[in-house]
Amino acid sequence: MNDAPPRDFIRQIIHDDLESGKHDEIVTRFPPEPNGYLHVGHVMSICLNFGVTEETGGRTFLRFDDTNPGKEREEYVRAIERDVHWLGFDWGDRLTHASDYFEQLYDAAEQLIEMGKAYVDSLSADEIREHRGTLTEPGRNSPYRDRSVAENLDLFRRMRNGEFEDGEYVLRAKIDMASPNINLRDPALYRIRHINHQRTGDKWCIYPMYDFAHTMSDAFEAVTHSLCTLEFEDHRPLYDWFLDQLQPPNRPRQIEFSRLNLAYTITSKRKLNALIEARVVSGWDDPRMPTIAGMRRRGYPAMALRDFVRRGGVTKKDKLIEMAVLENSIREQLGDSAERRMAVLRPLRVVLTNYPDDQVEMMQALNHPNRPELGKREMPFSRELWIEQDDFLEEAPRKFFRLKPGGEVRLRFGYIIRCDEVIKNDAGEVIELRCSYDPDTRSGTGTSDRKVKGTIHWVSATHAVPAEVRLYDRLFTVPDPNTADDAMDVLNPDSLQTVNAMLEPSLNELADGQAVQFERLGYFCLDAEDHSSAAPVINRIVTLRDSWAKIERQAMQS
Ligand code: ATP
Ligand code: MG
Repeated sequence: MNDAPPRDFIRQIIHDDLESGKHDEIVTRFPPEPNGYLHVGHVMSICLNFGVTEETGGRTFLRFDDTNPGKEREEYVRAIERDVHWLGFDWGDRLTHASDYFEQLYDAAEQLIEMGKAYVDSLSADEIREHRGTLTEPGRNSPYRDRSVAENLDLFRRMRNGEFEDGEYVLRAKIDMASPNINLRDPALYRIRHINHQRTGDKWCIYPMYDFAHTMSDAFEAVTHSLCTLEFEDHRPLYDWFLDQLQPPNRPRQIEFSRLNLAYTITSKRKLNALIEARVVSGWDDPRMPTIAGMRRRGYPAMALRDFVRRGGVTKKDKLIEMAVLENSIREQLGDSAERRMAVLRPLRVVLTNYPDDQVEMMQALNHPNRPELGKREMPFSRELWIEQDDFLEEAPRKFFRLKPGGEVRLRFGYIIRCDEVIKNDAGEVIELRCSYDPDTRSGTGTSDRKVKGTIHWVSATHAVPAEVRLYDRLFTVPDPNTADDAMDVLNPDSLQTVNAMLEPSLNELADGQAVQFERLGYFCLDAEDHSSAAPVINRIVTLRDSWAKIERQAMQS
């Protein structure tokens, strides 16, 4: 794993600002809107905002941007707090809400009115849109633009007092209706909305607009570097305009970086919510979702997510990162830490005809091939076993080194067996193999040094624990589902497959949140929601190898 300090253009700016003495301490904020669960894109923003202050001894606020009452829910607030903590970051006593500043924001708005920099408009929303102009045509001034300061103040106060209906008036900044930047064409600062706010209740019936609330909250918190995604680049002149007019004691600097986009998935709370509404997934924490809650339930380690965004870096270029990059971070994290176990996902019965009926031997199985300190466990071996269906082929090519009629294979930590007879059902499907074992070939202690090419995994049928295992695949069939007309058209119908697997008995003791490698299959963990010891449910975190890379290579060759 790469432990070198990250270097990117934002860290460079921060470094320079500390060096030059412009700032003694770096202050940042992560400002989610609590209208959904956080996703993998937010992981990047969290790691950046909390990362730069962790590295420099600064401070980071977790600030809920709750300026849009009606869409925001307490459930989302709780989920966001949990997710940030789970990633390993701590805001200490710096948990804030834009709504904490409603009074200060209101005062700042009155100040703008008094300076002649804001006015109350009586145009309707539609009329305001008509007056705004286009990218090629300038806008037109509202006929109410030149109201006196006294009249503006009076109207704004009455807006606050609830004397008007929604949409009757709006407070606008007085900037420049001819500006080539549409964000500067007298943007709205406050709207009337008679709606209860989840924190302030019915105290307010006017609510500040995002740009104004966001800029001023940054200033109130003495944020030094306000880091946001590129779509806010065109809003920076407005951000700076507010600061120029109001001259707060602390002047934050906005810096934009490009969003993190992950191939075969979507990173938009709105679109993720649509998947839930359409019941394509079971909820925000469905293990196929690119949400932090979904990835945690799937079994992705927090450190793997952090490693992943570090590899992606921070740039100004748009990028679509391959899923393989994320999966490699996960495999790297788990490869060293996850103990090995055996499980058979699609069981085929093997009967060892020359093995005593009532005999059980305890085989010594290594918990980790490279870490002997993790010790061994015992696996019962008996006359009837399960092996993987695809470890047997009746008509096998020459290079198939697993089991075939008359062929031999080693059972890992067990014996060499030979397939003597294939039993089929009426439909011609193979339902059982009659095999014989070579008693001299027991792993570790056998007297024979006979070698065979293939080794397969197995579990004792008499002792196996049945479990539902959920195999996940990507949600979409195209690399960038964001560009599809309708994401529903490009859903992967096989994103969830459920199999009835057989586990070695020690998996009865698997702890919540513990990831294990099922040998030859991948990494797995208990499903935190649906698992119970009476009815085990297990998630596949990731396969051992990137099976998609192979599929894509084949597609390119054909
Ligand atoms: P969404 O479209 O999913 O709702 P958002 O940007 O509206 O995303 P916010 O809750 O406003 O979501 O985002 C909080 C912070 O996370 C913002 O600073 C935003 O720039 C950042 N962010 C959101 N999506 C990404 C992404 N894909 N990559 C990097 N940062 C992101
Ligand atoms: Mg947003």
